[in-house]
Amino acid sequence: MKNSKFIINVWDLLLSAWKNDEISFENEMISEINWLTKDWISGKVLIQSFNKESLLVTLQDIKCTIKEPCDRCTKEYERNIFVDHYSAKFQAEPEKDYDWDDEVFLIDSNETIDIKEMIINAILLQEPFTKKCEECLKYDEENWETEDWNLDVFEWKGNINFR
Ligand SMILES: [Zn+2]
Repeated sequence: MKNSKFIINVWDLLLSAWKNDEISFENEMISEINWLTKDWISGKVLIQSFNKESLLVTLQDIKCTIKEPCDRCTKEYERNIFVDHYSAKFQAEPEKDYDWDDEVFLIDSNETIDIKEMIINAILLQEPFTKKCEECLKYDEENWETEDWNLDVFEWKGNINFR
């Protein structure tokens, strides 16, 4: 047994098209993601076979909490992450001219898939542009009107006289 729940045996799914499997996991560790709290990661994986060499994998209800320093005040705060839906294709051979909106991963030659990287990508996509604690977010909300440069532009425009 491999030490990760994220390596899933799919040999039975690859026997024919339209086979399904669903796997739940709770509090599974991914050490590659920084600042994760000790609840680690929970969620569900749905796997469906297209044919004998490709699968559609969908992550559902991925939950975790990241405790990281605020970009502004540097105080540590907790950010809850929830990904309700994230899909990728897994296939036996790399596609030559691929035309697929989602990501494509490879099915291992021993008929297993490793969904860890997919979960990491799904979580990293949730990263906000700036990471701010609740207090700093509230501060921004209350002060945006006075700090927003657009207001100056608006006032300036108001002074234009049309003759
Ligand atoms: Zn802050």
